[in-house]
Amino acid sequence: MQLNFSGLRALVTGAGKGIGRDTAKALHGSGARVVAVSRTHADLVSLSTECPGMEIVCVDLGDWEATERALSNVGPVDLLVNNAAVALSQPFLEVTKEAFDRSINVNLRSVLQVSQIVVRGMLARGVPGSIVNVSSMVSQVIFPNLATYSSTKGAITMLTKAMALELGPHKIRVNSVNPTVVLTAMSRQLSDSPEVAEKLKERHPLRKFAEVEDVVNSILFLLSDSSAATTGSGIFVDAGYLAS
Ligand code: NAP
Repeated sequence: MQLNFSGLRALVTGAGKGIGRDTAKALHGSGARVVAVSRTHADLVSLSTECPGMEIVCVDLGDWEATERALSNVGPVDLLVNNAAVALSQPFLEVTKEAFDRSINVNLRSVLQVSQIVVRGMLARGVPGSIVNVSSMVSQVIFPNLATYSSTKGAITMLTKAMALELGPHKIRVNSVNPTVVLTAMSRQLSDSPEVAEKLKERHPLRKFAEVEDVVNSILFLLSDSSAATTGSGIFVDAGYLAS
């Protein structure tokens, strides 16, 4: 997708790997100045080598105080992609306090915190903005052992709507993308079980999962003025799963 983000500054969380990494690269390639935020320093170093000029911030977004220290002086941001998340799979009766707290802090609380930091800057500058929260189709449909992860993604739906409601009058749009399976590090378990993956693909009307590029394209569309009248909503990149 050919979009032009020249003159704009974008912040992408979870930019070290997978969807976040390709989103940061696509934004960089479309002219935006990009701040890549992630947890593993080596990932960020290799990303900034691939994309000269990209700024990197290494922080554990599950740590509120560390995030505040790392991002409070991040500077002007026009486009925000809240992408970082963990998928900790446990049967409902075996969900631990640690896994639940970690998931809430990384997948949900950091979206609130990073958005607050960025939006305060937008309001101070009096500029419009666009925010995309990377959710999942499991915000709407449940799979075994994903009670915790799905709960965080379901909550993102309402956080997205709440942000859209309160920030709309300031010309700040907030949407989500909700992918089905994308074969990244997060879904390694599925890549390691081709038979299970094939069966699951067959349950999608398009008989496939989403590619990273499919998700990145939807994120870029929602960040851009091409979706200027869309807020509090989002795009299901689910190969038709929820229609079946
Ligand atoms: P991924 O390959 O595991 O990449 C996630 C990135 O987020 C990594 O760079 C990771 O860094 C970073 N991250 C995780 N926890 C962090 C933390 N506490 N602080 C800072 N950075 C952190 O995952 P992905 O598949 O690209 O997923 C991206 C988004 O898509 C997530 O929101 C996920 O829920 C959503 N999604 C994924 C799928 C799928 O099937 N893959 C489907 C639907 C939705 P480290 O590796 O260094 O921890």
